[in-house]
Amino acid sequence: PVVAWPMILDNKVNSCVFLVVEPEYSQIYLGEGELFIPHLRLGTKRIVLFSKLKEKARIDGLTGLFLKRFFIEKLYSEIERAKRYNTNFYIMMLDIDHFKKINDNYGHLIGDAVLKKTASIIMDSLRHGDFAGRYGGEEFIVLLPTISKEKTIEIAEQIRKAIKDVVFKADKNFFSITISIGLAKYNKGMDIDTLVGNADSALYKAKNTGRDNIIHYDENMDD
Ligand code: GH3
Ligand code: MG
Ligand code: MG
Repeated sequence: PVVAWPMILDNKVNSCVFLVVEPEYSQIYLGEGELFIPHLRLGTKRIVLFSKLKEKARIDGLTGLFLKRFFIEKLYSEIERAKRYNTNFYIMMLDIDHFKKINDNYGHLIGDAVLKKTASIIMDSLRHGDFAGRYGGEEFIVLLPTISKEKTIEIAEQIRKAIKDVVFKADKNFFSITISIGLAKYNKGMDIDTLVGNADSALYKAKNTGRDNIIHYDENMDD
């Protein structure tokens, strides 16, 4: 027979301990469980708390997106996966246009609200399995696994338009913002710095060609 103890944490069954025992010992083990199960429960509780804390440490407090450090880790594993399975993916680098002016004109708190809203629009535009991070002050980065160039541009376009359509309010003033986006494809054998550098070059070009713009990286940009 099997003796079993459900582990209840926060009024929910979190896990279960099963013990396969000889029939004549089942009563003894059930009795002994009273002694060791509380210790196991405490251990489980610690693991749950720890993983919650760990998750929290990966998230940017203001925007709810992943922190740069953790995003980079994720990007490394995506590169490994692409190498192993011979797949490609895209990254997207996004930067709010003239963000400094928003802080200057309306204050830091309004600036923060703009960052929050931008992050939530980015999140809402993504597919299951896409991954968004806050890369710097007003700069965001997105990882899009198994996707075509057309679909990547479509998602970028959706984000660009959605952000442009938001009307923000600061006291009696109404304003809207725009965003510039650089796209780059991961190709086999590429390292992480090249990939991020390519997205950055594309973003730079988007900035230099009038902003509110999406640019896909191509080799000629390096000249
Ligand atoms: P560009 O169109 O070239 O991107 O110009 P920009 O003004 O957006 O870029 P710049 O790098 O000159 O300014 C970014 C500003 O973002 C400067 C910094 O004070 C502000 N910033 C960075 N982090 C935060 C934040 O967490 N909250 C707020 N409110 N502002 C921030
Ligand atoms: Mg900016
Ligand atoms: Mg910037």
